[in-house]
Amino acid sequence: MGNERTYDVCVVGSGITALVAAGIFAQKNFSVCVVAPPLREEIESGDIPPRHYSISASSRRIFELLQVWEEVNGVDGGLVRGIEVWGSASRPLIEFLPTIDRLSPLAWILERQNIVSVLLVAIRGLGVDIIESELISVACAEDTGLVHLESCELRASLIVGADGRNSKVRQSMGVSLVTKTIGQEAVVAVVKTEKSHQNFACQRFLQTGPIAFLPLSDPHLSSIVWSCEPSEAQRLTEGGPFFNEAVTSVFGHKYGEVIDSRAPMSFGIESGGVSSFFSGRGVLVGESAHVMHPLAGQGLNTALLDVASLAECIDNKDVLLTYSSLRRRLRRYERWRKAEVLKMLSVTDGLNSLFCSEKIFVSLFRKLGARSLNYSPFVKDFLISHAAGVYGDVPEMVRQK
Ligand SMILES: Cc1cc2nc3c(=O)[nH]c(=O)nc-3n(C[C@H](O)[C@H](O)[C@H](O)COP(=O)(O)OP(=O)(O)OC[C@H]3O[C@@H](n4cnc5c(N)ncnc54)[C@H](O)[C@@H]3O)c2cc1C
Repeated sequence: MGNERTYDVCVVGSGITALVAAGIFAQKNFSVCVVAPPLREEIESGDIPPRHYSISASSRRIFELLQVWEEVNGVDGGLVRGIEVWGSASRPLIEFLPTIDRLSPLAWILERQNIVSVLLVAIRGLGVDIIESELISVACAEDTGLVHLESCELRASLIVGADGRNSKVRQSMGVSLVTKTIGQEAVVAVVKTEKSHQNFACQRFLQTGPIAFLPLSDPHLSSIVWSCEPSEAQRLTEGGPFFNEAVTSVFGHKYGEVIDSRAPMSFGIESGGVSSFFSGRGVLVGESAHVMHPLAGQGLNTALLDVASLAECIDNKDVLLTYSSLRRRLRRYERWRKAEVLKMLSVTDGLNSLFCSEKIFVSLFRKLGARSLNYSPFVKDFLISHAAGVYGDVPEMVRQK
């Protein structure tokens, strides 16, 4: 193989967003490559701690279109049949209960590394070239995109930056990700509890941040995300009996004792986005363009909606031929996603501030608001269907017919 290769679409990144983007464009007959840091060692070593994501109906639809749903859902995937939101009281503030009218789960809890492994096989099957090499530089000019790797040079009509919050593609475009620090870190772990989770996801808002339990397929295993102050996060990541007791003290009334837990890990929490989603022939999706608080479990779901929207805007190869036609489509993508991402950021930031505030009038407003919401089936159905990502201004491929 020569030292320079040419593609319609070059996706930079090796996470779920990148692999889904590659798969969707390959299904539309674009020639596609993925630029990833060396992956094999990471996957074959088998000691990557599990990380779980809450997956919405829109993301499920995208996995179905890529024909990977059965497999990504196959390992220890959990079903969310109901959701409880707790404050400090001994009863939930808001409950989303399963109803006879709504048979479908509210969400699915899937393991990250399994999704990545399944997608890698699927996109190879679709003819995507996966190029494992260090990225040296990217140039997204109007006439062509150039990606300089340690092993070769790539030319592409479209460069998709799906390389996460420290995106080199974004930096090469001269675009900054403007974020605000929330003063919290998220500690994730899998815990084994005395009582069954009964396929309920529960979130409790503490004054230092929310803690969520997400049900896995084993009725006594839940994946937890605990957002708290950095000093508390540091303590919690030491794990062991201290961690188990701390989690029991927050949710023991619901789950009983935490009997066991797997090494907790912590992640920084930020919230924000970019002012431009594209420049020249470079375009951003997922965390290279926006980061959000994990409390609503929507970051990855939003990223996959970015990808589906981008593929709807760039729906055939002819769009790539001239920069004026490409720019028109990228502008449409940018307007579309900016509005949707802004809405999602307002919801996640708003919920975090509202529920974690100690101010007395906010607390009163919260209690009254939560009580009226809890007795409004119509509003609850509206919230559930919008969190599912299949209603509203969503791409055709995920829209609920
Ligand atoms: C604690 C926590 C819990 C969360 N829970 C949920 C949830 O339940 N549901 C949900 O929808 N979202 C959730 N999120 C959000 C979710 O993790 C992110 O939105 C999602 O991972 C973004 O995907 P991404 O592909 O854009 O970025 P990433 O997952 O960060 O992937 C970027 C990839 O690019 C690769 N990369 C980086 N640099 C380069 C380079 N130079 N060359 C090539 N590749 C590169 C990286 O190796 C990485 O694989 C959670 C986030 C946190 C912190």
